[in-house]
Amino acid sequence: MNNGIVENLINELSKLPGIGRRTAQRLSFFIMGMSKDDAHAIAHAIIEIKEKARFCEQCFNITEEEICFICRNPLRDKSKICVVEEPSNLIVIERTKAYKGLYHVLLGALSPIDGVTPEKLKITELVSRIKNGNFTEVIIATNPNTKGETTSQYLSQVLKPQGVKVTRIAYGLPIGGDIEFADEVTLSKAIEGRKEL
Ligand SMILES: [Zn+2]
Repeated sequence: MNNGIVENLINELSKLPGIGRRTAQRLSFFIMGMSKDDAHAIAHAIIEIKEKARFCEQCFNITEEEICFICRNPLRDKSKICVVEEPSNLIVIERTKAYKGLYHVLLGALSPIDGVTPEKLKITELVSRIKNGNFTEVIIATNPNTKGETTSQYLSQVLKPQGVKVTRIAYGLPIGGDIEFADEVTLSKAIEGRKEL
């Protein structure tokens, strides 16, 4: 067998986050053992997402159309808008089925040190949606880390003058987690967002 093609697949898979060389090797041999159809389906899905995916013109979620399926859904609560950093965060919130409002994806988080200033994010677009829409509440669901907190504080400053209620989702410790392993930001936020028992 020509080892070049195996090595090539291992190298390509190693580029994925969280995939070390050993895992890439294991995946490569697994793919070799798959049916042709299954392997083609994986390759096709990768090609398709690069060729067809674009950002929703309203919320910047990933979509195949101009407007994504969430923005187009007449049953969504148009009085609430949840602000997230990345489309992947939106997917996680959708999976909880706990939220029925609309979204706004910033496509990043503020980090002036890395040159990520407010103009680099979809903040102007968010402010204009708030101005032109009938939102009563903006739920900020940026990540509970330094960048996410900076973004959250900035957003609250620019959004409050719009006369809209600005809330931040309460962060807790992961279920099954151990306080010992929680980072300081998570822990301090968990204490801050505590509820009366
Ligand atoms: Zn959308």
